[in-house]
Amino acid sequence: MFFNGFPFFGGDDGHEQYEMPGGRKKDTDTNKLYEVLGVPKEATQSEIKKAFMKAAKEHHPDKGGDAEKFKEYQAAYEVLGDAKKRELYDKYGMEGVENGGAGGQDLFDILRGGGRQQQRGAQKMRGAKVPVEITLEDAYLGKTVNLPVKRQRNCETCEGKGGSNVTTCDTCKGRGVTMKVVRMGPLTQSFQQECQNCNGEGKSISEKDKCKTCKGKKVFKQDATVEVPIDKGAYQDQEIIMTGQADEAPGYMAGDLHVIVQIKKHPVFTRQGADLFMEKKITLLEALTGFCFKITTLDKHELQIATPPGEIIQDGDKKVVKNQGMPFYGDSISHGNLIITFKVEFPKKGSITDAQLKVLSDILPGPKPKKVDTTKDDILLLTEFDATQTNPSEEGGRREDDEDEYEDERQGGTRVQCGQQ
Ligand SMILES: [Zn+2]
Ligand SMILES: [Zn+2]
Repeated sequence: MFFNGFPFFGGDDGHEQYEMPGGRKKDTDTNKLYEVLGVPKEATQSEIKKAFMKAAKEHHPDKGGDAEKFKEYQAAYEVLGDAKKRELYDKYGMEGVENGGAGGQDLFDILRGGGRQQQRGAQKMRGAKVPVEITLEDAYLGKTVNLPVKRQRNCETCEGKGGSNVTTCDTCKGRGVTMKVVRMGPLTQSFQQECQNCNGEGKSISEKDKCKTCKGKKVFKQDATVEVPIDKGAYQDQEIIMTGQADEAPGYMAGDLHVIVQIKKHPVFTRQGADLFMEKKITLLEALTGFCFKITTLDKHELQIATPPGEIIQDGDKKVVKNQGMPFYGDSISHGNLIITFKVEFPKKGSITDAQLKVLSDILPGPKPKKVDTTKDDILLLTEFDATQTNPSEEGGRREDDEDEYEDERQGGTRVQCGQQ
């Protein structure tokens, strides 16, 4: 008898519950599973499958559906979806499926899609993701990071058993699940749920026999250090998998620790792939006459970098120093390039005398400047750009602030310019 030997416990869902008498069954119910799926008894296998897929989609817990409902559909389809089990169900109800179709397995195992123990043994605990922050120097040179982690391990004292005298759970008789029968009008529905006495493990330990170290929990939280190898050329968001270094639980393989490389911003170098980029300020004189300067590399050696003879550097020019970038990941003997963007700093206002300017205008190419009388009314003088004084309205109107204030500022600015002349 299917329900034989299962104690039922009171539900809190308000439905009336009752215990089915063991070993006896008045009417063999061969309709309920069809009603669950909403198909007629003469439905074809493909109609049953279609009905299940539709219902499962609607009630899938991942999509916000009711988990209990979803399980019901699954359980019904486990039987009706299989022509052989369906035949037994049609003749003898669930009892027939259990006795005739199971071949020694019990229905709980059938509903779970296989033996409980085998399924667990092969399973691996879910992995964990942790970031590891390194410097660009670390990525250049490679290193081993000692990463502190908090993880779950099996209790060493009781070897993950939880204590001595482990016995089969009385509540579920070792099955890990209990059946709950709910009467809804003329129908009875049975649900299986995880045994609350043993948390679905099928085994229990009396209070006095529980392991003192883990208090019967079988596991403990461990503070551990994982040595994470950072290879030369390690890159941003690289995932380093440390097998078996995450949580462990009895009956499961320890999960993997996924270490995600996060590289800190470097004050000088920016990295793109295997290339390094940097900005270098030079004076106008250096831009014109050439220069030599030193750079300290990520592995702390000095490079001396010079312009080729006769070269003139424009503001914004990019130049390459070959093979001075990052080591290639997986081929750390070779390196990418170092790319330098030059910013040419011009002399500040007033830092060049009239006499020097005269010399410059004699030697630099281009049209020679004429003397301009800036006090004349038809000469428009440049003023400083101020983004807050722009008129960005797409309709072409004035900007929205106080117009009077704007007028004042403009006049004021003009007066200053005049006064300087
Ligand atoms: Zn139990
Ligand atoms: Zn223990």
